[in-house]
Amino acid sequence: MIGVRAALECILNDVPRIGTEQVPVPRARGRVLAAPVVATRDVPPFRNAAMDGFALRAADVGAASPNHPVRLRVLETVGAGAVPVHAVTTGCATKIMTGSPMPAGADAVVRVEDTRETDGYVAVAVAVAVRTHVRFPGEDLRCGEPALPAGHLLRPADIGLLASLGHAVVRVHRRPQVAVLATGDELVELGQPLGPGQIANSNAYTLAAAVEEAGGLSRLVGIVRDTPAATREAFAEAFTSDMVVSTGGVSMGTFDLVRQTLGDLGVSERFWKVAQKPGKPLTFGRRGDVPVFGLPGNPVSALVCFYLYVRPALRAMGGLAQVHLPTVTATTETRVDTARGVTEFVRCTLSGPPDAYRVRTTGSQSSGVLRSMSVGQGLIVVPPDVTTLEAGTRVRVILLDPTEAADEPPVDL
Ligand code: AMP
Ligand code: MG
Repeated sequence: MIGVRAALECILNDVPRIGTEQVPVPRARGRVLAAPVVATRDVPPFRNAAMDGFALRAADVGAASPNHPVRLRVLETVGAGAVPVHAVTTGCATKIMTGSPMPAGADAVVRVEDTRETDGYVAVAVAVAVRTHVRFPGEDLRCGEPALPAGHLLRPADIGLLASLGHAVVRVHRRPQVAVLATGDELVELGQPLGPGQIANSNAYTLAAAVEEAGGLSRLVGIVRDTPAATREAFAEAFTSDMVVSTGGVSMGTFDLVRQTLGDLGVSERFWKVAQKPGKPLTFGRRGDVPVFGLPGNPVSALVCFYLYVRPALRAMGGLAQVHLPTVTATTETRVDTARGVTEFVRCTLSGPPDAYRVRTTGSQSSGVLRSMSVGQGLIVVPPDVTTLEAGTRVRVILLDPTEAADEPPVDL
């Protein structure tokens, strides 16, 4: 049986990178840059004022103080978006607004708060150094300078940066389309009543949502009945997507047909069964350029396997440089018992500040109890050789929602 680390490496070595497309910059948040972006102009494009005030020659106000202000003649007023007409010469100043181009001849700006303006003149009450409150061309980005690397996930600031460089469109990786199949004769579609022995198909929707959260596009193929013909037909259809993810039918039961069917369809199986709990029966393979994951049917197992394996694969396929969920260190509040010989992922909640996280299990760790994932914020990683974590043990915890918000505001004062 393969270990967790080896399984992950096997998968990441095997997923192809998806192609690219051009999208409008205003729609590009959350997308992944396909090529580095180099600045094609200076940002800002011209020398401008960083404050509302007066553009002047610093040498003219070298002796200015509140008791002995220096009087300068005001040449004109320049708003943002306007262009100065006059050059500033000795004894003169130009009234200027934040973002307005600096007039020629001026080498500093005095804040309006440090001046008093009266009929055509301004009294300056402070001395300033050359360059004070002046922004220079290329201060943010210089033409020719690298602005963003390939594989970068575009965040709001990056969208603004692309806009400031004048890009209307940007080349990003396509969002991988993931076919989601749920196998099982017991499954009932959403909105249908339950007959004897039947349960709602929840996994398909869990996984489709997880695909979308991970940056992919989900395609629900539907419920697949546990017959060779139905299984074969559904998978054959699913392979038109960029990736295939199924649940159920990968264990030892008489009606577990997924592996056999994938083999018949020409899938090369890379591994089956991982030394972990939950999620042991996971299978992974590839047919042409399409990776396929056969996740276990138990709802917790399916979702844990998604987070551990499918999510990084999907992100790598989508061109991202960083693919793994973040981890934190925490101290257990209660004793935790686990099985020997497998890596266990224990659903847990976190409390306390990030430099002293405390961690508590969510209760029943049965792989059928999906609520443990719903209330759970993370997974305690328990290595194969550990069977008991006493209260007070330092552990590693995988965070399941890196975008989570906090109860408390981020500033104390
Ligand atoms: P299997 O791996 O097919 O043997 O299924 C293991 C367990 O997961 C069984 O209790 C199934 O009823 C349950 N299960 C399988 N598929 C789903 C699904 N799509 N939604 C919810 N539970 C499921
Ligand atoms: Mg089944």
